[in-house]
Amino acid sequence: MAAQRPTASSRRPLLCLCLTAPTIQGDLAILKDYGGWADIAELRVDCLSAEERAHAARLPSLTALPVILTVRRTADGGFFSGSEADRVRLLSSLVGAGFTHVDLEEDLSAPALDRASEAAGLRVIRSLHDPAGVPADLHARLERLARSPGEIPKAAVTPRSSTDLDRLLRTVESVEGRERIVLGMGEAGFCTRVLAGKIGSMLSYASAPGMAAAPGHTDPRTLAELYRFRLISPRTQVYGVMGNPVSHSLSPLIHNRGLAALGVDAVYVPFLVDDPAAFLPAAELIGVGGLSVTIPHKQAVLPLLGASDGPVEAAGACNTMWKTEKGWAGTNTDIEGFLQPLRRAFGGAVPAALSAVVLGAGGAARGVMAALSSLSARVLVLNRNRERARDLAASFGAEWGSLDASGAARATGAALIVNTTRVGMGDSADQEPLPSYAFSGREVVYDLAYGRKETAFLSRARAAGCRTISGEEMLLAQAYLQFRTFTGREFPSDVKEELESAARSGGLAGA
Ligand code: NAP
Repeated sequence: MAAQRPTASSRRPLLCLCLTAPTIQGDLAILKDYGGWADIAELRVDCLSAEERAHAARLPSLTALPVILTVRRTADGGFFSGSEADRVRLLSSLVGAGFTHVDLEEDLSAPALDRASEAAGLRVIRSLHDPAGVPADLHARLERLARSPGEIPKAAVTPRSSTDLDRLLRTVESVEGRERIVLGMGEAGFCTRVLAGKIGSMLSYASAPGMAAAPGHTDPRTLAELYRFRLISPRTQVYGVMGNPVSHSLSPLIHNRGLAALGVDAVYVPFLVDDPAAFLPAAELIGVGGLSVTIPHKQAVLPLLGASDGPVEAAGACNTMWKTEKGWAGTNTDIEGFLQPLRRAFGGAVPAALSAVVLGAGGAARGVMAALSSLSARVLVLNRNRERARDLAASFGAEWGSLDASGAARATGAALIVNTTRVGMGDSADQEPLPSYAFSGREVVYDLAYGRKETAFLSRARAAGCRTISGEEMLLAQAYLQFRTFTGREFPSDVKEELESAARSGGLAGA
């Protein structure tokens, strides 16, 4: 699976659209809306209502796409709850209806159905499912899965940790020489769905939004357009973001837009990582060349770095790693990413001896303190946990206090207020970190939090006449620097303009 090694399938991976509506009419609507991004469809007959199953044979003739026939039982995450005999009868009644493939489980013993499928010219996908984990004997089971040379073995398993993901990828690499379908279900397995072309899986499944056929499905448009799924091959360079949680991250949107605009053969993937030390061997196996590091790993990765630079030292945290011949090197683009929008807000240069208030004393606050320290700013740190405020302030020769009305009173007169607490992030946009603070209208107010809408803290500051800087502006600035570190190229200016305009008008998620 290493970057240059030819894998089991050197062909481009196929994007399979799962048809999971309760009616044939509903499935046709999914095909109409999303079929344009797909190479093949899978009719999940088990998702159809009992009456509609009688019409399943019509579907293959109603689409130009090849169609896989699947009747998934409840034990494997599907909806068919009848007996195995009933399921085999249903499958047997459909094999001659124009489907191109049929998905049959490893433990299904139905020789007549196997023969009927072969006689009808269907290719059998012989599948094993584990909705709870990655089986210890996965290698042996994958090796003996196909019952004849024409069958396609498929493993759909559920990595629950970085260790599981590493084990899954190593197993896949060790199974050589034939077409296969391998996918990790759930968020920790999402990367395998995007990287099918890299890990030698002949196809990846996608579902219409809100109709996921299995945990971790994304929609075909996102797979095809954002991740440029079909272009991913064993030679594609992989970058990504590791975090926990990570599904909310806007970094894949930013980096993939930049990579696509430059026409670079590379993709940027979200990796749900519970343990960076366990994840890095898996990343190396895939051939990951660079990683953004986000919550909660920015400090945990420090011992894993073979080399780091001044910004890492100053912030005591690393948000950017890249692979070198000697191991992983790290830098921190949060500091400069914080400073660039700040300079813009002050018209190009931040005044000397600026008085600033930093709300919060976590990892992000440390980076902000390092940035403000480089400006020789006078800083007051306010935090809910007073000890953390005191410790952070002590490291930078700053003052400290509580995140309450007494702190708000001490903040009065500051030229810059920065929120680095988690308050305002994501779904908490309506909450404020320091509601008792009265804006004078003369402050620059910077909120590292971002989400689907402007935070209440920034809205109130803007209404009071303050200049405001959103978390998305910092996110973009630090991402452009990471992009240069990863690719050696500047982030394309036309995409920059689009993303910045989206950040100003309603948020990046709409870009
Ligand atoms: P962290 O190390 O976990 O620190 C969290 C901080 O938030 C602590 O100061 C904590 O106070 C405070 N906090 C949490 N819940 C609170 C509450 N209900 N009321 C008051 N304070 C609360 O996290 P981090 O890495 O510093 O990240 C902080 C935020 O910055 C996150 O939302 C992150 O997404 C954002 N961020 C944005 C960017 C960007 O580019 N825009 C970059 C980095 C980080 P205690 O010490 O009292 O627990």
